[in-house]
Amino acid sequence: MSSPDPRWSILWRGPLASCNYACPYCPFAKTRDDRAALADDARRLGRFVDWVAGRAERIGVLFTPWGEALGHRAYQEAMIRLSHLPNVWKVAAQTNLSASLPWLARANPATTALWATYHPGETTLARFLRQCATAQAAGVPFSVGIVGRREVFDDIERLRDALDPAIYVWINAWKREADYYTADEVARLERIDPHFRLNLHPQPTRGGLCLGGHTTFTVDGAGDVRRCHFLGGVLGNIYEAGFEAALRPRACPAATCGCHIGYVHYEPLRLHEVFGDGVLERIPAAWPASALPAREGALSSVA
Ligand code: SF4
Ligand code: SF4
Repeated sequence: MSSPDPRWSILWRGPLASCNYACPYCPFAKTRDDRAALADDARRLGRFVDWVAGRAERIGVLFTPWGEALGHRAYQEAMIRLSHLPNVWKVAAQTNLSASLPWLARANPATTALWATYHPGETTLARFLRQCATAQAAGVPFSVGIVGRREVFDDIERLRDALDPAIYVWINAWKREADYYTADEVARLERIDPHFRLNLHPQPTRGGLCLGGHTTFTVDGAGDVRRCHFLGGVLGNIYEAGFEAALRPRACPAATCGCHIGYVHYEPLRLHEVFGDGVLERIPAAWPASALPAREGALSSVA
């Protein structure tokens, strides 16, 4: 069993729910945030950042918005400020990487990271790669991933071939259709993402210890604390004194956990050992892999 990380990892999700993309497989109900809604989200975000700055614990933050956050100045400034705080060990964000990125150069590259998802159909590979190059030039580490539907297998391989091998490419398995992949397809995708099999099926988790509710937890725009994004039940509120008394080792009550941001903290899987300090942005500690298996016809670059 891996030992619990003494640091906190907080997944923050405010009310912001709008996105500049319209992916047909998007799991979130996309809404339009008007100016007042964005201002309200920014106010809640600012309060959260102030709270982090006032804590003594070492804190990692992963922004997991319902939509796309990094196009908004409030999130850019929040990441910059958090990245320079002495008690912040990591600040990362899930993003479609579409936003203009010059602000990244003002963030501390030692503590900033991105979890970037490529959405073919919403952008071109060339544009996405340019954004990756900008993040790389800023020295900010990031993982790149994609939803592994059959119609994008070729796109996945083009992406892998065009990216620096030092960048980890993950593939989220399409789980809405049972037994979606053939064995050959699994083998094909594992040649891109050696950890693909991990998310091929929801992980059975009931009764096993999970760091969710112990050293990692979610915080919403009101400051309410939950174990993870998948379990209800408010444990407390970060803006109330002593909320941390509710954090302790706990067994997972759910039959399964189907999302990487959850089961990466499920202790029996020992994934903190696999991802190490890259656990929030999904970069394996041992990446770049010494040798990804060669694929026939692999391209050296994509225009
Ligand atoms: S980029 Fe993400 S949030 Fe936006 S539509 Fe696509 S899947 Fe949904
Ligand atoms: S295993 Fe998943 S559902 Fe269970 S507590 Fe952990 S993150 Fe939540």
